[in-house]
Amino acid sequence: MKPIDILNKHDMKRTSCREGIIEVVMTASQALSENEIRERLAGNYDRTTFYRSFKTLEEHNIIHKIVVNNQLVKYALNNSVTHKNEHTHFFCNKCQSVKCMDDVPVQKYQLPDGYSDNKTEVLIKGTCANCKTEE
Ligand SMILES: [Zn+2]
Ligand SMILES: [Zn+2]
Repeated sequence: MKPIDILNKHDMKRTSCREGIIEVVMTASQALSENEIRERLAGNYDRTTFYRSFKTLEEHNIIHKIVVNNQLVKYALNNSVTHKNEHTHFFCNKCQSVKCMDDVPVQKYQLPDGYSDNKTEVLIKGTCANCKTEE
């Protein structure tokens, strides 16, 4: 799937900035911060254009946000685009990388009476495979 196909599927207007952002998150091997995405963009866009395109993609559920803490927020391509289930995220304490674990589904938790859930976000912290081999 190409960025243009994703925009078409979501009935969104094609702009080079939107396509560029999708391209960057699609090809990345891990989740990226807003700055990292901006730095990797081929075209040169001003802050406003970039920010607006970025927000639009998030609103249309093309990219999703992964919040590690208030200083570390990363983004990745969304499940609805890759057709995967709700997945867990992994944060590496050593290299600070964040990765979507597409093959590790989020499990259903049993909640006490009176509580209902609509979204479960799981962030596992530990050491990633890259850092493990360096030990
Ligand atoms: Zn690591
Ligand atoms: Zn993810």
